Amino acid sequence: MIRILLVEDEAYLTRTIARVLGEEGYAAESAGDGRTGLARALAEDFDLVIVDWMLPGLDGLQVVRRLRAAGMSIPVLMLTARGQVEDRVEGLDAGADDYLTKPFALPELLARVRALTRRPRGAPVDAVIRAGDVELDTIHHLVRSGDVRVDLTAKEFALLATLAKRPGQVFTRSALLATVWGGTSDVYANVVDLYVSHLRKKLDRDGEPSLIRTVRGVGYAFESRDTP
Ligand code: CA
Repeated sequence: MIRILLVEDEAYLTRTIARVLGEEGYAAESAGDGRTGLARALAEDFDLVIVDWMLPGLDGLQVVRRLRAAGMSIPVLMLTARGQVEDRVEGLDAGADDYLTKPFALPELLARVRALTRRPRGAPVDAVIRAGDVELDTIHHLVRSGDVRVDLTAKEFALLATLAKRPGQVFTRSALLATVWGGTSDVYANVVDLYVSHLRKKLDRDGEPSLIRTVRGVGYAFESRDTP
């Protein structure tokens, strides 16, 4: 099943697109604003994100930039009412794969969706992130550390998913702040450190190195524990 996240604030358009995608056999889910859309795209495993440019709060361009800043290569189709060449270039520069100007015909949308969701035959759907003995089920939001089920808040889950998708990769605090919290000014700078300490309390074991390594002066990296 191909999962598509639609980030669009116009309820009527959202319903129409979701219905048409559903009729074509896609599993379409929606988010009504940029922040929610970004958080879901980061924490869950979608095959395609369709994002409207004009959104309340975080706009579509920022959503795409932050997805790419987090290293996510998921295909993105940008929708917009603006059709000027400059805007198109700006959208593609931000990391969108394709671009559709409103109003558009639904067959045109479906053609773009088909092109963007073509995946190599037999490629597995990555609904579960595994890093060493830590497993994140991104559909049901369940986390296991070895045999132990760990309860995480939504933000803790999003932070862990971001780190664990790329074990060993060092993420800066500002990159984590931007991807997990949307980089809003009402979030204080130490929030990343605070949440890393929450995750360590929940996931680390006595006498073993932390799963989340501090890279002094830079940020954090997830270090897999070997599976027994
Ligand atoms: Ca809109």
